[in-house]
Amino acid sequence: MAYLALYRKWRPQTFADVIGQAHICQALQNSLKQGRISHAYLFSGPRGTGKTTIARLMAKGLDCAHGPTDSPCGECQECRAIANGSSLNVIEIDGASNRGIEEIRELREQVRFAPVGAPYKVYIIDEVHMLTPEAFNALLKTLEEPPAHVVFIFATTDLHKVPATILSRCQRYDFKRLNHAQLMEGLKKVASAEGIAADEAGLAMIAKHAEGGMRDALSLLEQCMIYSEALTVETAADVLGVAPAEEIRRFTENLLGKDDKACLEQINRLYGSGRDLMQFTRDVVDELRGQMLQLEPGQRQESFLEAIRKLSDCAREMRYAVDARIPLELAALELTAKPKQEQSLPSEDINSLKEKIRTLEQQLRNLSAKETPREEPQRESASVRKRPSGAGDQERTQFLIDNWEDYLQALRSERLVQCAAFLCEGRPVAVQAGTAVIRFPRERGFHKASIEQPKHREAAERVLSKFIGTNLEMECVFDDEVSPEMTGSHQQPEKREKGSAGITQVNEPPNASKTAAQNRPQNEPAAENETVQAALKIFGGKVVRIPDASE
Ligand SMILES: [Zn+2]
Repeated sequence: MAYLALYRKWRPQTFADVIGQAHICQALQNSLKQGRISHAYLFSGPRGTGKTTIARLMAKGLDCAHGPTDSPCGECQECRAIANGSSLNVIEIDGASNRGIEEIRELREQVRFAPVGAPYKVYIIDEVHMLTPEAFNALLKTLEEPPAHVVFIFATTDLHKVPATILSRCQRYDFKRLNHAQLMEGLKKVASAEGIAADEAGLAMIAKHAEGGMRDALSLLEQCMIYSEALTVETAADVLGVAPAEEIRRFTENLLGKDDKACLEQINRLYGSGRDLMQFTRDVVDELRGQMLQLEPGQRQESFLEAIRKLSDCAREMRYAVDARIPLELAALELTAKPKQEQSLPSEDINSLKEKIRTLEQQLRNLSAKETPREEPQRESASVRKRPSGAGDQERTQFLIDNWEDYLQALRSERLVQCAAFLCEGRPVAVQAGTAVIRFPRERGFHKASIEQPKHREAAERVLSKFIGTNLEMECVFDDEVSPEMTGSHQQPEKREKGSAGITQVNEPPNASKTAAQNRPQNEPAAENETVQAALKIFGGKVVRIPDASE
């Protein structure tokens, strides 16, 4: 007889033989018993959890000579044909290799032919999520109007890749991973039926590595049997490439005992004997977790928590590491490192550090001594609030004209950057009877209209009132609307030197600024420079003159 893999040989042939997925078996058996058959079923869940097995049992239940029945006989011609895969009425298709539209079109042709010697034609399409969108569309047409004799059973490990249009036409069953007890039950059953001498710990190790799938569990058992006649925890560990429990416990001890040398030796030895270091790391995390949970209340958990966190990160990193040893060695070294305060530097190092600090301190002192004269006036200008020289409209007008840039700066420092941006296109004309008149060029209509919005105008007025020292409203006009009455006897703004409005020398009385600008030597055109003007508009601030050493 041809060799048959264990999981094929021991595939359950009745619903009663199935381990796990009890809720699904129950529901399907009920619908078979009551003859309520859907045209499409969708089985989703992790690999090796019984989707294909249960699909075949369902097919048997439908096509058994005594069917539809919840307990197919397993003896009639159709039951036996389904069991050995020779039935003409049960067609298994691998979605991964028949994913194109041609295959599905062919399927649609076939679907029309009636079953032979049985009531149903059952199509089991595995990995259905692999179908192309065109194939899904073709399939959908069949699902919309299925012939009465056809039942589809779709299986997938990737439910979210199945289109909603297909999902909505299927009865859905979600398969769960098998738990440890269920895997052990299956393994023991097969081991005893095969006459395998297996100890409990060996089987438990296999169950632990099967990731909830019976097929993987039986494949691992089979690998162990090829390797050795009797299954023990050691043979299982060898086949799986995992470290024996003793190694895991010792590593945990070395880690918590901060024995870096022993940890590194162990890592190298395990690596040399071909153990899976990623699995080893996970096992150590498991061991640490187990030990931590057994701590008495009040015992310190910190070192456990730190080790668990670091090693979990380490296991993740190992997946992408060229050499899995390196992340584990680094983690081990970090975890076994002595706390910082215990580390001591040689005294000569400390002395040289002290010397360096002294030098740096001296340099810092020298530096701040040089800086002082330049810094002082700036500090003063920020703290000394300037005020108009008198309380009349004339003084206020002159003050506002001379200190317009300072006002814009005051807006910015109150976080009214937008107001400042709108107003920087305007120029003060006059302060008259509690109103400050601001003029804008015609082409700056947007800026004028924006600052006239109550929200902005009120904020600008509030800051302006504070700036001048009296309550003021703001009126905005265009250049060509400025009348002689508005300016009165004051200096005509257009006569002002371009750009001079905001340029004041620090600590000078406001009225002196114009003179200062005019007095500036011709070889120092900083404030007139276009770039400087643009920078002033954007950032605000002042142009400050720093005298040369020769002056
Ligand atoms: Zn039968």
